[in-house]
Amino acid sequence: MLLDNLVVQARENNIPIMQAASLAYLKKIITEEKVKTILEIGTGIGYSTINMALEDDNIKIISVERDQKRYQMACDNVTKIGLEDRVQLILGDAKEVSLAEKFDLILIDAAKSSNKIFFEHFAKNLNPNGLIVTDNVNFYGLLNEKITNRNLKQLVNKIKKYRIFLEEKKDFTTTFVDVGDGLSISKRSDE
Ligand code: SAM
Repeated sequence: MLLDNLVVQARENNIPIMQAASLAYLKKIITEEKVKTILEIGTGIGYSTINMALEDDNIKIISVERDQKRYQMACDNVTKIGLEDRVQLILGDAKEVSLAEKFDLILIDAAKSSNKIFFEHFAKNLNPNGLIVTDNVNFYGLLNEKITNRNLKQLVNKIKKYRIFLEEKKDFTTTFVDVGDGLSISKRSDE
């Protein structure tokens, strides 16, 4: 089955994909909230994109990937499974991509150091009752570990700061869910 092949393809090419538990949780949200339009930041080879699209025949997805090779692999995978009518892939740095459309759900799963930038950049593209979901907010259980590697420490600090940014953000209410590598689910606060 293509979905199993995608897991193998991702592993062989060393491309991270969403953990099974996070993806299952996300798909539950998509069904419960009747999500029909999704913006994904970080396509990879299209594993999460395709999984989300298969959740409901009426779902439309735009997904942004900056790596040319991964983008091409994702295009091939989307075509192979026949989802090209409902899935639009964009090659480019999401920070520089401007979209006019509004979405029921925005999934942030790209460079973890830029989560806050993605959130602020695309919040205007969220429908009034929409959700912004960010993956890996537990960052492999490293947030409370003593880290000596300088780059890793910087990244861990950025993720800690992102969590604080979400917690303190008045116009959004965020729930943190300890599933997979941790998901944050942000919704516009009631007036
Ligand atoms: N969501 C995918 C899945 O579960 O199948 C996995 C995505 S992978 C964790 C993160 C991807 O985001 C990488 O392929 C990386 O090239 C891409 N990425 C990182 N920063 C980006 C940016 N600024 N704009 C677009 N894509 C970016």
